Amino acid sequence: MSRTMSGVMPAVTRTRLMCALLPALLATPLLTACGDSSDDGGAGADGDFRVLVFSRTAGFRHDSIETGVDTVRQLGAMHGFGVDHTEDPAAFSADNLAHYAAVLWLSTTGTVLDETQKAAFEQYVRSGGGYAGVHSASDTEYDWPFYAELVGAYFHSHPVFPLGAEGGPGVQPGDLHLEAPDHPAVAHLPVPWTISDEFYSFRTNPRGTVRVLLNIDEDSYDQDPNTTNISGGTFIIGETGTMKDHPMSWCHDRFEGRAWYTALGHSTALYADANFRRHLLNGILTAARRVAADCVPREDGPLAERDTGPAFPPLLP
Ligand SMILES: [Zn+2]
Repeated sequence: MSRTMSGVMPAVTRTRLMCALLPALLATPLLTACGDSSDDGGAGADGDFRVLVFSRTAGFRHDSIETGVDTVRQLGAMHGFGVDHTEDPAAFSADNLAHYAAVLWLSTTGTVLDETQKAAFEQYVRSGGGYAGVHSASDTEYDWPFYAELVGAYFHSHPVFPLGAEGGPGVQPGDLHLEAPDHPAVAHLPVPWTISDEFYSFRTNPRGTVRVLLNIDEDSYDQDPNTTNISGGTFIIGETGTMKDHPMSWCHDRFEGRAWYTALGHSTALYADANFRRHLLNGILTAARRVAADCVPREDGPLAERDTGPAFPPLLP
């Protein structure tokens, strides 16, 4: 079965720095574990479900979206699940969403659904549907409380330097640490997992409401200058994106559905990285509940001095 959505939105051409300035419903979860069947290490797709990839952008548009869509299509073909891609918000109807075990919000930005479409997605999740979010999925739908809970935390800022980095301004190496060695989205990763990407900070720390899978060592990359202290506007001048306890990927069960999010995925090159592909694949399978995954929140963090409240005060209007 092939279902092709039309209505691709025109790309919004903006500078890189604008990235920060703008800012089949599941009857029963199938928890199979078939072992690795490829370099991507799929942990058990059962071969009979579909995932909808949604990449509409109403603000900054990442160059990596097309590669990301192609990557998910490849992962689906290799691991036995169907993938449809759309940028048409009309795809968010009850009848259409019922075809999917999960919807992957791939580097979406801004307000992308109207009220009717939001209601359809809410009902989908409340009926057990899965949500997966990649990178600027957290830079999306700031005025939708349901989405805020589902994604877990909103984007706050990211580093700006080095300006001339391969992959775009702010892309630099950093060390990620897995917190959930039993979780299929991260169990395969080296410690530390050193990769280059644009590293997000978040307005709030989701720990305690989600199970954190990955955190980043803030000493391993340059946080400053950061979009918070160069842009003015709605950002707080003089702040960096420092969170101390700094989650970068998590999952949780919410509204009867399951959500998985990764802050990674800005850089096009990352989609060719075997460890990232496996992270993405098993994150999607987590959201679709096609792999055994513990998403029970933990209060404990890796840093004794971690912040317990919101990481940042509210942004200025
Ligand atoms: Zn980005």
